[in-house]
Amino acid sequence: MSSYRISLIRGDGIGPEVVGACENVLLHASSLAGVSLKIVEVEAGDGCLEKRGEALPQVSIDIITGSDACLKGPVGRSAASVIVRLRQELELYANVRPARCLPGVPALDRAADFVIVRENTEDLYRGMEMEFDGGVLAFRPITKRASERIARFAFNMSSSRSLGKRVVCVHKNNVLKKSDGLFLSSFYGVAQDFPGIAADDMLVDSAAMNIVRKPSQFDVIVTTNLYGDILSDEAAQVVGGLGLAPSANIGERYAIFEPVHGSAPDIAGTGRANPTATMLTAAMMLEWLASTRGDGACWKAANLMRGGVDAALSSGARTRDLGGNMSTADFAADVIGKIT
Ligand code: ATP
Repeated sequence: MSSYRISLIRGDGIGPEVVGACENVLLHASSLAGVSLKIVEVEAGDGCLEKRGEALPQVSIDIITGSDACLKGPVGRSAASVIVRLRQELELYANVRPARCLPGVPALDRAADFVIVRENTEDLYRGMEMEFDGGVLAFRPITKRASERIARFAFNMSSSRSLGKRVVCVHKNNVLKKSDGLFLSSFYGVAQDFPGIAADDMLVDSAAMNIVRKPSQFDVIVTTNLYGDILSDEAAQVVGGLGLAPSANIGERYAIFEPVHGSAPDIAGTGRANPTATMLTAAMMLEWLASTRGDGACWKAANLMRGGVDAALSSGARTRDLGGNMSTADFAADVIGKIT
């Protein structure tokens, strides 16, 4: 039986509820598939800040880097001190956000099935702001190295998918001629190495419109940090809502998996949160373990998790955000019952 250490950040707000529900499904599917997971708790976020005076202590980073993969719930007000810092310190340069329709869940276009690949280490998210003559200056670093690296990741992602074989680079180079100009020229440079994949580009405003107008035209979208953050929430809504949207932060050595949604303080503690996004996130983690370790049992566990979620939704299981009345825990129990 293969065995992995999974570091687990429960997070804030609805985090502990959706992560707890997901953990039960993850352990069930993994043990059926012959994968043994040792869960190691990691303190991070608002609760940790209150208790320890810092949102991400070094000991937490050490546990994450000592594990095989990290599963993370949403963090509240201290998100920038936790995930933005982890993305930069661990060089988790690719943020992968798939947008795929799920059985029976209303979506704007059921043919939509695409992935947003967002550069995760640069752009305005470096947080370099300074006061300037009564105003504020915000720096937006964009480098050739990071732009080429994320473009290559996006082309590889497209070649691993069965659909489309098209990568669209989203930018605003008509205004941001130097920064987005460099991102775009790096993209077309890398495209030369992938002659079997169509390379195209689109202005970010046009992309925002096209994701709603005709999402099925997209296979892989590659873009900078801020545009990717905004467009991926839009994409999540196109295929059914934030409660369903998974994501991964991937680097050369480490990877952290988290739902796209935030800590949703408006419904925290009510049992109304949809844990599907976190479950699909855990399935992405198993797939990443499968492909990086060449472990077929992890593929099996990932497929069991996805199959369980699909079967639960197909049979009409719904949390409140999808018009049903199931609690977070009841939905998880339903998914577990479908995994045999
Ligand atoms: P944060 O500041 O942590 O990002 P937020 O409330 O601004 O929190 P989200 O947490 O992403 O942003 O929530 C946006 C909306 O989507 C809220 O109304 C929230 O209740 C809803 N929502 C987010 N995640 C879920 C979920 N898993 N299940 C049900 N509703 C959700």
